[in-house]
Amino acid sequence: MGSLALVFCLAAWPAAPAPFAAGPGQETYVSELIVEPIPYDVVFRFDRSLPSGRMKKTKDGSPGTSYRMVQRTMRGGEVLRTRVLWERRIEPVPAVIVVGRPTRPVSRGSYTRMRVLEMEATAYCPNSCCGSGNPKRTAIGMRAGPGVVAVDPQVIPLRTVLFIEGYGLAVAGDTGGAIKGLRVDLGFATHAAALKFGRRKVRVHVLGKA
Ligand SMILES: [Zn+2]
Repeated sequence: MGSLALVFCLAAWPAAPAPFAAGPGQETYVSELIVEPIPYDVVFRFDRSLPSGRMKKTKDGSPGTSYRMVQRTMRGGEVLRTRVLWERRIEPVPAVIVVGRPTRPVSRGSYTRMRVLEMEATAYCPNSCCGSGNPKRTAIGMRAGPGVVAVDPQVIPLRTVLFIEGYGLAVAGDTGGAIKGLRVDLGFATHAAALKFGRRKVRVHVLGKA
Protein backbone atom coordinates (compact mmCIF):
# COMPACT_ATOMS: atom_id res chain seq x y z
CA MET A 1 0.00 0.00 0.00
CA GLY A 2 1.60 3.26 -1.07
CA SER A 3 1.14 5.61 1.81
CA LEU A 4 0.62 9.23 1.05
CA ALA A 5 2.59 11.05 3.67
CA LEU A 6 1.37 14.54 4.31
CA VAL A 7 4.27 16.23 5.97
CA PHE A 8 3.79 19.44 7.87
CA CYS A 9 6.89 21.18 8.99
CA LEU A 10 5.76 22.73 12.22
CA ALA A 11 8.85 24.27 13.65
CA ALA A 12 12.56 24.37 13.52
CA TRP A 13 14.32 25.57 16.58
CA PRO A 14 17.78 25.48 18.04
CA ALA A 15 18.79 22.89 20.62
CA ALA A 16 18.89 25.34 23.47
CA PRO A 17 17.97 28.98 23.86
CA ALA A 18 20.95 29.94 21.77
CA PRO A 19 21.86 32.21 18.90
CA PHE A 20 19.42 32.13 15.98
CA ALA A 21 22.10 31.33 13.48
CA ALA A 22 23.50 27.95 14.43
CA GLY A 23 27.19 27.65 13.94
CA PRO A 24 28.50 25.06 11.49
CA GLY A 25 29.26 22.52 14.22
CA GLN A 26 26.08 23.07 16.18
CA GLU A 27 23.15 20.64 16.38
CA THR A 28 19.67 21.84 15.53
CA TYR A 29 16.35 20.07 15.93
CA VAL A 30 13.64 19.94 13.32
CA SER A 31 10.22 18.57 14.24
CA GLU A 32 7.62 17.38 11.77
CA LEU A 33 4.10 16.11 12.22
CA ILE A 34 3.63 13.22 9.80
CA VAL A 35 0.01 12.41 9.05
CA GLU A 36 -0.66 9.19 7.16
CA PRO A 37 -3.95 7.51 6.27
CA ILE A 38 -4.36 3.88 7.40
CA PRO A 39 -6.37 1.93 4.80
CA TYR A 40 -9.35 -0.09 5.96
CA ASP A 41 -9.93 -3.79 5.35
CA VAL A 42 -12.86 -5.26 3.50
CA VAL A 43 -14.26 -8.25 5.39
CA PHE A 44 -16.39 -10.90 3.67
CA ARG A 45 -18.96 -12.90 5.62
CA PHE A 46 -21.41 -15.55 4.52
CA ASP A 47 -25.16 -15.25 4.70
CA ARG A 48 -27.13 -18.34 3.77
CA SER A 49 -30.25 -16.31 3.00
CA LEU A 50 -28.53 -14.67 0.03
CA PRO A 51 -28.24 -16.65 -3.19
CA SER A 52 -24.78 -17.74 -4.33
CA GLY A 53 -23.02 -15.06 -6.36
CA ARG A 54 -24.88 -12.19 -4.71
CA MET A 55 -23.22 -9.70 -2.40
CA LYS A 56 -24.39 -6.85 -0.23
CA LYS A 57 -22.35 -4.21 1.52
CA THR A 58 -23.63 -4.00 5.09
CA LYS A 59 -21.14 -1.54 6.47
CA ASP A 60 -19.01 1.18 4.90
CA GLY A 61 -15.39 1.27 5.86
CA SER A 62 -13.51 4.34 6.93
CA PRO A 63 -9.75 4.82 6.87
CA GLY A 64 -7.83 5.54 10.03
CA THR A 65 -5.12 8.11 10.56
CA SER A 66 -1.68 7.90 12.04
CA TYR A 67 -0.08 10.99 13.55
CA ARG A 68 3.59 10.96 14.41
CA MET A 69 5.68 13.81 15.71
CA VAL A 70 9.19 13.15 14.51
CA GLN A 71 12.25 15.04 15.61
CA ARG A 72 15.39 15.13 13.52
CA THR A 73 18.72 16.19 14.91
CA MET A 74 20.61 18.05 12.20
CA ARG A 75 24.11 19.36 11.81
CA GLY A 76 25.29 21.23 8.75
CA GLY A 77 22.30 20.07 6.68
CA GLU A 78 22.86 16.43 7.64
CA VAL A 79 20.42 14.30 9.68
CA LEU A 80 22.23 12.80 12.65
CA ARG A 81 19.28 11.12 14.43
CA THR A 82 15.55 10.73 13.99
CA ARG A 83 13.25 9.93 16.87
CA VAL A 84 9.52 9.69 17.30
CA LEU A 85 8.41 12.06 20.04
CA TRP A 86 4.83 10.84 20.15
CA GLU A 87 2.43 8.77 18.14
CA ARG A 88 -1.38 8.61 17.93
CA ARG A 89 -3.53 6.26 15.88
CA ILE A 90 -7.15 6.49 14.95
CA GLU A 91 -7.95 2.92 13.92
CA PRO A 92 -9.65 2.24 10.57
CA VAL A 93 -13.12 0.68 10.54
CA PRO A 94 -13.44 -2.28 8.15
CA ALA A 95 -16.13 -2.43 5.48
CA VAL A 96 -18.31 -5.53 5.72
CA ILE A 97 -19.61 -7.31 2.65
CA VAL A 98 -22.03 -10.15 3.09
CA VAL A 99 -21.99 -12.78 0.35
CA GLY A 100 -24.35 -15.59 -0.56
CA ARG A 101 -24.20 -19.29 0.17
CA PRO A 102 -20.74 -20.77 0.10
CA THR A 103 -20.12 -23.47 -2.45
CA ARG A 104 -18.99 -26.85 -1.19
CA PRO A 105 -15.16 -26.63 -1.47
CA VAL A 106 -14.92 -23.32 0.40
CA SER A 107 -14.64 -23.45 4.15
CA ARG A 108 -16.76 -21.09 6.21
CA GLY A 109 -15.48 -18.21 8.27
CA SER A 110 -14.51 -14.65 7.58
CA TYR A 111 -12.27 -13.50 4.78
CA THR A 112 -10.44 -10.30 4.03
CA ARG A 113 -10.27 -8.91 0.53
CA MET A 114 -6.74 -8.63 -0.78
CA ARG A 115 -7.53 -7.17 -4.22
CA VAL A 116 -10.16 -6.95 -6.94
CA LEU A 117 -9.54 -7.99 -10.54
CA GLU A 118 -11.64 -7.41 -13.65
CA MET A 119 -11.43 -10.70 -15.54
CA GLU A 120 -12.86 -12.42 -18.56
CA ALA A 121 -14.77 -15.53 -17.54
CA THR A 122 -15.69 -18.64 -19.47
CA ALA A 123 -17.55 -21.67 -18.15
CA TYR A 124 -17.00 -25.41 -18.08
CA CYS A 125 -18.76 -28.52 -16.84
CA PRO A 126 -16.99 -31.51 -15.24
CA ASN A 127 -17.77 -33.87 -18.12
CA SER A 128 -15.50 -34.85 -20.97
CA CYS A 129 -17.25 -32.40 -23.36
CA CYS A 130 -15.46 -29.52 -21.62
CA GLY A 131 -12.07 -30.98 -20.88
CA SER A 132 -9.21 -33.09 -22.03
CA GLY A 133 -7.40 -35.76 -20.06
CA ASN A 134 -9.07 -36.65 -16.78
CA PRO A 135 -12.12 -34.42 -16.74
CA LYS A 136 -13.22 -35.04 -13.16
CA ARG A 137 -10.00 -34.06 -11.40
CA THR A 138 -8.21 -30.74 -11.52
CA ALA A 139 -4.52 -29.87 -11.62
CA ILE A 140 -4.38 -30.01 -7.81
CA GLY A 141 -6.57 -33.11 -7.55
CA MET A 142 -9.83 -31.39 -6.66
CA ARG A 143 -13.16 -32.56 -7.94
CA ALA A 144 -14.05 -30.31 -10.88
CA GLY A 145 -17.43 -28.61 -10.81
CA PRO A 146 -19.29 -25.77 -9.10
CA GLY A 147 -17.03 -23.60 -6.95
CA VAL A 148 -13.84 -24.79 -8.63
CA VAL A 149 -12.31 -22.42 -11.15
CA ALA A 150 -9.27 -22.50 -13.40
CA VAL A 151 -6.84 -19.59 -13.25
CA ASP A 152 -3.41 -18.54 -14.43
CA PRO A 153 -1.30 -19.31 -11.33
CA GLN A 154 0.97 -16.38 -12.24
CA VAL A 155 -2.00 -14.08 -11.59
CA ILE A 156 -3.82 -15.97 -8.82
CA PRO A 157 -2.01 -18.64 -6.79
CA LEU A 158 -3.69 -22.07 -6.74
CA ARG A 159 -5.90 -22.77 -3.67
CA THR A 160 -6.73 -19.06 -3.29
CA VAL A 161 -10.33 -18.37 -2.25
CA LEU A 162 -12.23 -16.04 -4.59
CA PHE A 163 -15.58 -14.35 -4.60
CA ILE A 164 -16.77 -13.88 -8.17
CA GLU A 165 -19.71 -11.52 -8.64
CA GLY A 166 -22.55 -13.31 -10.42
CA TYR A 167 -21.03 -16.72 -9.65
CA GLY A 168 -20.15 -17.01 -5.99
CA LEU A 169 -17.37 -18.27 -3.79
CA ALA A 170 -14.78 -20.38 -5.47
CA VAL A 171 -11.38 -21.96 -5.08
CA ALA A 172 -8.63 -21.43 -7.64
CA GLY A 173 -8.30 -25.18 -8.14
CA ASP A 174 -7.22 -25.73 -11.71
CA THR A 175 -5.15 -24.44 -14.60
CA GLY A 176 -5.77 -24.59 -18.32
CA GLY A 177 -3.83 -24.06 -21.54
CA ALA A 178 -6.08 -21.20 -22.63
CA ILE A 179 -6.35 -19.68 -19.15
CA LYS A 180 -3.63 -17.04 -19.24
CA GLY A 181 -3.54 -13.59 -17.68
CA LEU A 182 -6.82 -12.07 -16.56
CA ARG A 183 -8.86 -15.13 -17.53
CA VAL A 184 -10.88 -17.43 -15.32
CA ASP A 185 -12.81 -20.60 -16.21
CA LEU A 186 -15.78 -21.25 -13.92
CA GLY A 187 -17.08 -24.71 -13.02
CA PHE A 188 -20.79 -25.55 -13.42
CA ALA A 189 -22.67 -28.75 -12.61
CA THR A 190 -23.97 -29.34 -16.12
CA HIS A 191 -22.97 -28.51 -19.66
CA ALA A 192 -26.26 -26.63 -20.16
CA ALA A 193 -25.51 -24.37 -17.18
CA ALA A 194 -22.01 -23.68 -18.52
CA LEU A 195 -23.42 -22.78 -21.94
CA LYS A 196 -25.98 -20.49 -20.33
CA PHE A 197 -23.25 -18.58 -18.51
CA GLY A 198 -21.23 -18.26 -21.71
CA ARG A 199 -18.40 -15.75 -21.69
CA ARG A 200 -18.51 -12.50 -19.80
CA LYS A 201 -16.57 -9.94 -17.80
CA VAL A 202 -16.60 -10.56 -14.06
CA ARG A 203 -15.26 -8.85 -10.96
CA VAL A 204 -13.13 -11.21 -8.93
CA HIS A 205 -12.43 -10.48 -5.25
CA VAL A 206 -9.27 -12.25 -4.16
CA LEU A 207 -9.71 -13.25 -0.51
CA GLY A 208 -7.44 -14.21 2.34
CA LYS A 209 -8.32 -15.83 5.68
CA ALA A 210 -9.24 -13.07 8.14
ZN1 LIG B 1 -19.34 -29.59 -20.85
